Amino acid sequence: MMNREIYLDNSATTALSKAAQDKIAEVCGIYGNPSSLHSMGQSAEKVVRKAREEILSALGVRAREGELVFTSCGTEASALAILGSAHAKERRDAIRILTSDSEHPSVQKNIDALAKEGFEIVKIPTRQGVLDIDAIERTLDKKIFLASFMLVNNETGAVYNVSEAFAKIKAKYPEAITHCDAVQGFMKIPFTPASLKADLITVSGHKLHAPKGIGALYISADMLKKKKITPFLLGGGQESGMRSGTENTIGIAAFGASVSDIKSRFAQNRAHFAELYSYASEKIEALGIKINRPSGEYAHHIINVTLPNIKSETVLHFLSSDGVFVSSGSACSSHSKTPSGTLIAFGLSPADADCSLRISFSEYNTKEDIDALCLSLSSALDRLIRIKR
Ligand code: PLP
Repeated sequence: MMNREIYLDNSATTALSKAAQDKIAEVCGIYGNPSSLHSMGQSAEKVVRKAREEILSALGVRAREGELVFTSCGTEASALAILGSAHAKERRDAIRILTSDSEHPSVQKNIDALAKEGFEIVKIPTRQGVLDIDAIERTLDKKIFLASFMLVNNETGAVYNVSEAFAKIKAKYPEAITHCDAVQGFMKIPFTPASLKADLITVSGHKLHAPKGIGALYISADMLKKKKITPFLLGGGQESGMRSGTENTIGIAAFGASVSDIKSRFAQNRAHFAELYSYASEKIEALGIKINRPSGEYAHHIINVTLPNIKSETVLHFLSSDGVFVSSGSACSSHSKTPSGTLIAFGLSPADADCSLRISFSEYNTKEDIDALCLSLSSALDRLIRIKR
């Protein structure tokens, strides 16, 4: 009988923080509609406003530089960014869209859908986890409409050089729209909209110890002023008209509280992740398991490994029965039966991609969790290799 929970799947989702739980308890009774004009509505609106300020501050947004639009999740925020820009009336003649070959499906599928509407999609390679800046430069012979690159890859932890990519694009085409899916990077690595040169930034609450069902899109003031983005959820005009629908007040409040809480430990958490990463990689490699370490910069809360010829799904279930939780590819791609496109783009063979696991930390993980993971991995390898022989 399993009597422990070693949760190492934090890039899929995270446990609610105490800060988030306390905030939920605090605002539970504030049930007015933030759009109502009476004082109960005003109280709810105040809760939403505070969370918006907390997240904008954590994003390092300067006064009047841009707005935050709350959505139901990161997926919706990226759909708003991509489809909302493509369908804006103010859209000019450019049709070329740049993205990487290893985006999360929430970006990839929306961009693929635009191909059917006549947009020209160019996918930039990310071999060994490095966004190919030379390849981007080669696409600049034609006007760019939109560029969408993620900050931290959700499967490999690779940090893509989004700021250099966007700087090069904007230098030649200042009107090009730049979107960054920062779901795995927000509150993990330092950035601001200005440092990334991003017009649009996607973030998500449940990766940061807030509840599921809350995300947000940062939109630059310039995009709003020039009407370069249009909403697709129409109705009551909430969120400055960008996303109709009564706000998820409790989720929004918890998102703000969780982000503020993490902000107070940002440097400490980064040091903690770096320590866990080096401790885990040494122990995992000692078991004969290969680490798919990006050759450029990488975040320390995600480790991707390839097992020696054993399917990741088999090991994942073995570890799960032992109370150790990791993922085979991203949680979303577990709905797919084909090997991870991200790992293929990284340079793995389909067979190796099928034998790869993702281990992802939160600030609550300890070295003891890694010891437990490695013990379980070691017995999984022993048992499964013996069965194969
Ligand atoms: N982008 C990345 C990089 C992700 O890892 C995820 C979730 O795994 C998403 C977007 C989607 O976020 P959400 O689950 O909030 O829709």
